[in-house]
Amino acid sequence: MKQIDSSLQFLRNPPVHVHATERMPLPHECWAFGSRRARALQGSGYVRKTLSAWACFGLAICLVLARGEGLRTGEARIDVTPEQPVVLAGYASRTNLSEGVHDRLSARVVAFEQDGRRLVLVSLDNLGFYNDTSGPLRQAILEACAIQPSELFLCAIHTHSAPLLTLDTARGHPNNVAYTKALGGKLAQGVREALARLVPAELGVGSGSSPVGVNRREVAQGVDGKTKVVLGRNPSRITDREVEVLKVVNPGGTEPAVLLFAYGTHSTSLGPGNYQVSGDIHGLAAQFLEKYFGGDLVAPEFAGASGDIDPWVRVLPGFRTGRGWVPETVLMGTLLAEEVARVAEGIHTSATNCPIRTAWKTLALPARPKGEAASSDDTTASMTITVARLGGIAFVGLGGEVFNELGKAIKLSSPFHPTLVLTHCNGAAGYVPTRPSYSEGGYEVQSSSFAPGGGEQLVEEAVRMLKELQ
Ligand SMILES: [Zn+2]
Repeated sequence: MKQIDSSLQFLRNPPVHVHATERMPLPHECWAFGSRRARALQGSGYVRKTLSAWACFGLAICLVLARGEGLRTGEARIDVTPEQPVVLAGYASRTNLSEGVHDRLSARVVAFEQDGRRLVLVSLDNLGFYNDTSGPLRQAILEACAIQPSELFLCAIHTHSAPLLTLDTARGHPNNVAYTKALGGKLAQGVREALARLVPAELGVGSGSSPVGVNRREVAQGVDGKTKVVLGRNPSRITDREVEVLKVVNPGGTEPAVLLFAYGTHSTSLGPGNYQVSGDIHGLAAQFLEKYFGGDLVAPEFAGASGDIDPWVRVLPGFRTGRGWVPETVLMGTLLAEEVARVAEGIHTSATNCPIRTAWKTLALPARPKGEAASSDDTTASMTITVARLGGIAFVGLGGEVFNELGKAIKLSSPFHPTLVLTHCNGAAGYVPTRPSYSEGGYEVQSSSFAPGGGEQLVEEAVRMLKELQ
């Protein structure tokens, strides 16, 4: 972390294009370092077992303050499983259409509202908004639901077993184009339903740890005898294993209405050999929670900073179900969900006054040179960043695949604890490696659009935007 922090000191004010930045007078502070929940946890084994930084500061939840109408939340889950065979996204080698559905895909929505301001978080069981699909899908929601651009976090979980999104009728498969066109309406429907269900709510947050993800930048020896970085497992490299959980309970209720969680791993336990539709690890974890808690629970799942993180068991040929075997993908999804459930069951919800503030920008970060033919326009590459404050909790949505150390740097430098970093959000700008990774090479570095230092600028800008929400 020291390396990142010190490099940030030399990076000042990257050029930005401002889309919309909402500002409002500073609200009453609603930190709760001394909250009943935090004090209770400090004396329990829970905190001792949790190594996350923000748990060490105590849970930052809102105090009940006699001001305004208080927080209201609404949630919805919309089925987005393809009805027709489609091209699955994530592997260029996989050109056949999908063959059946292992588990159904969903878009999960949680909407927050207070004092006339809204925050809408959407998790979509999909790879991401490639082929310039983020703009049209966001627009479908914004137009239908009358929310501000900065109030919408449209995020994908990066499963590699969901339809490739495209609106390109010339190059995309007709079934994929039809799926993507219909998706805009479904997402808008989900957000509309969530907003229509807004009711008073209490929030609480917690943190755990899961071993499902591992740093995938394995150092191997090439045939020429030189070392190189390949996609594999590298347990000696940094892996952010934190599982962040936000729980919503409606007053008078005993069961959670929403369990939102963020965890940093690619959802790639199924590889290019799999042709069945699936939410992979994140999607299966959400499905486990919704079955386990039952009722109308919605469990929006988010991929944390995981550009260099893969599941411990990765790129399988498919669901191995022979002789009663529970496939590894289901096991790992369940393992992640078990930790979310354990954390959730220990969360006491007490926050009912959580002022909302949001902002978003498209950063112009330094681009990697693309050869002699590159025009001056190619000197920068864009990345969308969305930030929100929900009382003492913050969300950072990044429109790309960010290395886990960069996400961790944002969480640790943020003035809000917890800060949840959600990736594949409102854009799809590809990999964002750390500066030292460039000299090592590897798949993520070779395919990145950003020059060394771009990731560190991203961290600095995210923290600056978070501080402006204070
Ligand atoms: Zn990826």
